[in-house]
Amino acid sequence: MLPFKLVYSEKYFLPIGDHVFRADKYRLIRERLMNEGWADESDFVAPSPASEGDILLVHSPHYVNKLMEGSLSAREELQMEIPYSPQVVDTFMLHTGGSILAAEHALSDGICVNVGGGFHHAFPDHGEGFCMMHDVAVAIRKMQKRGLIQRAMTVDCDVHQGNGTAAIFSGANARLGTLPSASPVAVSGSAKMLAGTSKDVFTISLHQENNYPLLKPPSSIDVNLPDGCSDEEYLAWLDNALSSGLRQFEPQLLCYVAGADPFFEDQLGGLNLSMEGLKARDELVFRVARAREIPVMVTFAGGYATRVEDTVAIHCNTIVAAAEVHRAGA
Ligand SMILES: [Zn+2]
Repeated sequence: MLPFKLVYSEKYFLPIGDHVFRADKYRLIRERLMNEGWADESDFVAPSPASEGDILLVHSPHYVNKLMEGSLSAREELQMEIPYSPQVVDTFMLHTGGSILAAEHALSDGICVNVGGGFHHAFPDHGEGFCMMHDVAVAIRKMQKRGLIQRAMTVDCDVHQGNGTAAIFSGANARLGTLPSASPVAVSGSAKMLAGTSKDVFTISLHQENNYPLLKPPSSIDVNLPDGCSDEEYLAWLDNALSSGLRQFEPQLLCYVAGADPFFEDQLGGLNLSMEGLKARDELVFRVARAREIPVMVTFAGGYATRVEDTVAIHCNTIVAAAEVHRAGA
């Protein structure tokens, strides 16, 4: 039995046909957790779909109407890169409800994992990059609206920049400059860390610079990593970004977007992280949060390994890492 809950529904499967985004990964993650004896039936809680009112905490009425009525233009559907259907809308509402439930459990239990979600490319007025609704942003806004938190931090370790997150939470006065931070290892290529300002939500994104999205709206901290970035470089930059972020901001909830796509065999990523490096990444995030007693909610975001089993293993390892850090204390 795990020391925290896993939010999951068999209806997390996205009916998008034959796609690089393997929507069966959620079911495969659950199966592997059970088969390996890492989780049992009692660890799982089922989400309810988010309401339209919840979605409107982040998304524009005009966009939500289009989703509900099925009146997206052909260009808008192309930009989303997944086919529109009312069933797909329902599935995103369920993942979003899952992230809301995960935030609630994180605040009461210290940590919770949504075995889904992490749709960080959704903007208030449009979807893109396989993301229709920004579940993490909705969960944060809902916790704030209910007065459970005032301040949240997103730590986005998907290989692609969290452009939707950055756009949703950008302060009006974002100011860019190179952060005066020394990396403990030599970083090759163009890796750099940029710092802006933020109000109630502080956004950190570590991503491959030379990858989608082409336009990267500024996060509070963006770490633009060079192609082929290694485990060692990545972990040093993550450590650096977390330290810098937590010096500037005291979150009451940390939303970890644990993308599996920095993996060296990912079809849509160009970083060079190993399976072990990715688990060390997870452990670092959980240890830092645990040491500061910051509740953590986890979402899974992308993962497009050549072999789907690798994507599944990386996501399962995130849960194993959370359990190890949680059981060990700080
Ligand atoms: Zn991604």
